[in-house]
Amino acid sequence: MTSPTGEIYRIDWLPGTDILHGTCHCGAEHTAQDPIEMWEWMLGHPEGHAPRGQERGPEQ
Ligand SMILES: [Zn+2]
Repeated sequence: MTSPTGEIYRIDWLPGTDILHGTCHCGAEHTAQDPIEMWEWMLGHPEGHAPRGQERGPEQ
């Protein structure tokens, strides 16, 4: 799935559950039962995102 800005997101449905597992273009991962909650998390980037092993460069 691709956002209007060309960033790549991936959302998988965990088989046998109501749980969505999303991976952001930054590598952060998130699980939610509500697709809308998942998209709000995705679009709220970088709020709440904590990519592993990646620094986003100097910020304040
Ligand atoms: Zn992100």
